[in-house]
Amino acid sequence: LKDVNFYFSLVRYAELDIHRKISQALIQYGYKSKTVSISHLAEAQEAVDRLVRIGLVNSQLSEEWHFYKRTNDSLPEAKTIIIVAMPEMVTRVRFEWQGTSYPADISPNFYYKKDESNAEQALNNVLAPAGYKTVKASLALKTLAVRSGLAEYGRNNITYIDGMGSYYRLAAFYTDFPCQEDSWGEYEMMGVCEGCSLCRENCPTGSIRPDRFLIHAENCLGRLNERQPDFPFWVRLQPDWPGAFIGCMRCQSVCPANEPYHDRVAPGPSFSEEETGWILDATPLEGLSWDTLQKLDNPDGGLYRLLPGNLSALIEKQKMKE
Ligand code: SF4
Ligand code: SF4
Repeated sequence: LKDVNFYFSLVRYAELDIHRKISQALIQYGYKSKTVSISHLAEAQEAVDRLVRIGLVNSQLSEEWHFYKRTNDSLPEAKTIIIVAMPEMVTRVRFEWQGTSYPADISPNFYYKKDESNAEQALNNVLAPAGYKTVKASLALKTLAVRSGLAEYGRNNITYIDGMGSYYRLAAFYTDFPCQEDSWGEYEMMGVCEGCSLCRENCPTGSIRPDRFLIHAENCLGRLNERQPDFPFWVRLQPDWPGAFIGCMRCQSVCPANEPYHDRVAPGPSFSEEETGWILDATPLEGLSWDTLQKLDNPDGGLYRLLPGNLSALIEKQKMKE
C-alpha cells in the first residue's frame, strides 16, 4: 500500500509540475492562463441559456456567439480547458481623403489576424512530451475567463485582467491532461466598480443601466458594429460616436481600471487617397491592390465589411465639426 501511495504522490507531483510549466511557458509571451475541468461545460451552457430564457440576453446575439453545443468533437477525451489571455493594443490607422488626414483607432480584436500559434506552441511544448494532446476550443471565452478567475467583470460588462486591463484577447484549448487545478468559481465584479459609474455616465447609448448588471447589448455600439455592415441612422446622430473607429471604446477609455494601459496604441498603416476611395466605394477585395490587402492584414476576417460604413460616417462627422 505504501508503494501505491508513493506512486500516486509521484503522479500528482508530475501533474502539478505540468501545470507550473504551462504557466511558465505562456508567461514568456506575457500571457496569463487558468485551467478548468471540462465537467463545467454543461453548467456554463445552462447559465447562458437561462439568461436567454428570461430575456436578459438577446437570443439573436447568443446564437452568434460560440457556445458549448459545438464542443470537443476534435478531442472527445478532453479533460481540461486551458484559457489563455494575450495582451492586445489599439491600432491607429490613417485615411487620406480630399486633402485631409483622418486618424482612426481600431479596438483590440478587430484588426490583426487572430494568431494563437504562440499559445498553442507553448502548450504543445509542455504537454506533447508528457503524452497529452492539445486542440483549439471554440467556446464562450468571456464566460470561461470570468468563471475561471482569469478575468473580472466591469460594470460595463467588459472583462478585465490584472496586468492587461481590458486590452487583451482570449483563446481556449482542450487537452486530455487531467485537470488538477480546477479554478472554476462564481462571477466576480471588479472591486473598483464599487462607487464608480464613469462608464454608465459616458455611454452614448445608455446601454449601461443602474438597475441591472447586464448591459443592453442590443443598443451597444460596439456590438452593433460587429453585427451590421452599416449603422442604423440613429447611431450616426450620436454626438459621442465613435469612441473608436471600429468597436466603441468609450466605456473602456474612461475606466480607471484601464488607466495604466491607455498608451497601448500601435501605429497602423496609412491608406492613400486612392485606397480610401476604394474603401468608401466598398470595392470587392479582388479589386484592391496587393499593397492595400497587406495593409488590411486580415481583410476577409470581417474588418473590411465594416470599413466603408464606418469610414464614411467618420468623414461625415468630421466635416460636421468643421
Ligand atoms: S468605469 Fe468604473 S464602474 Fe465602469 S467598469 Fe470601469 S471601474 Fe467599473
Ligand atoms: S461599448 Fe460604447 S455603447 Fe457599448 S456599453 Fe460601452 S460605451 Fe456604451
